[in-house]
Amino acid sequence: MKAFFFSLRNRLRFYISEFRIVMSATCRSQCLLPLPTPSLKLPTAAAYCLLLTLLLLFQAQPAHAWGFWAHKRINRIAVFLLPPEMMNLYKDNIDYITEHAVDPDKRRYATADEAPRHYIDLDRYCTFPCADFPRRWDDAVAMYSEDTLKAYGIVPWRIQQMMYWLTDAFKAKDKNKILRLSTELGHYIADANVPLHTTENYNGQLTDQVGIHGFWESRIPELFGEDYDYFIGKAEFIQKPLDRIWKTILESHQALDTVLGFEKQLSLTFASDLKYAYEKRGQTVVRVYSQDYTKAYSKLMDGMVERRMRSSIKMVADVWYTCWVNAGSPKLNPLYDVPLSEEEKLQLEEEQRRWRERTNPQHGHPHPETGTE
Ligand SMILES: [Zn+2]
Repeated sequence: MKAFFFSLRNRLRFYISEFRIVMSATCRSQCLLPLPTPSLKLPTAAAYCLLLTLLLLFQAQPAHAWGFWAHKRINRIAVFLLPPEMMNLYKDNIDYITEHAVDPDKRRYATADEAPRHYIDLDRYCTFPCADFPRRWDDAVAMYSEDTLKAYGIVPWRIQQMMYWLTDAFKAKDKNKILRLSTELGHYIADANVPLHTTENYNGQLTDQVGIHGFWESRIPELFGEDYDYFIGKAEFIQKPLDRIWKTILESHQALDTVLGFEKQLSLTFASDLKYAYEKRGQTVVRVYSQDYTKAYSKLMDGMVERRMRSSIKMVADVWYTCWVNAGSPKLNPLYDVPLSEEEKLQLEEEQRRWRERTNPQHGHPHPETGTE
């Protein structure tokens, strides 16, 4: 019996010393909790190792579409590109426009139709420049059927449809609708500017690059977005909205080779203990791409994330402005507070509840936008 405990103790000692070596290589200076020291008593050291392991194992890295940070920033800055006739309304409500920029992602837990509105898996149909792929919804339905289109994403037509609704809201001078539709349009436009929103390999799952979605659109802007150049000019009228939408989507799609190819190339030159780090988010410790790795990737892409963010901001402002002009450039004072219908109110409450509880999986095409990659 004594011999058994003696060998168990030795074994534990061995595991703890191994654990220390592995952890010090994995965490480097990024570890939030100090590693167990050799002077700790055996049971304390064992419990400590177990705690550290559990912390690292069970914390999933949250990843959001364009990152929630970037979605909010895009909507907020777009306000400052508007002409004075529109600026007052948008500026007075800039907190709403910023905070609710992420509502469409939250809605994925409540509404089955929501998911495909955020992307289009163009490579299911064609290769760049996709000259034969129908741009208009009716033509695309005729060629592929509505079910197929909904299965692989409908973001270009979602933007087009919402532009009609926003134009009508301006005509009706319906303040709530103008703000809600503007805010949500900002979200879908930003998504259309993300290369990984135009491919079925949306999270690198087909090329052994799982996690690249959040890496590109969350980690990079969250680390470096404060230093981007947001001097973008003024909102301009869009003559042919559907052409502009497709131009944006094809630009995104064209950039895919760079997004995937450069990360693959870079990962071959980084040891995995340098590629990842651990950071504290709120009360949890999460595994993230290390700052060095993120910086190197961003540099390789030569500022692509900044360019796509700028492109998103410009397009959001252009679309808001175009809808207003198409509505006859109405004076935005006075506006009317048209109350939500009972049905709309219930729907909104249900969406919020589902998001808060997140007991349901996300509906539709799984996308790593809300922390479930
Ligand atoms: Zn989205």
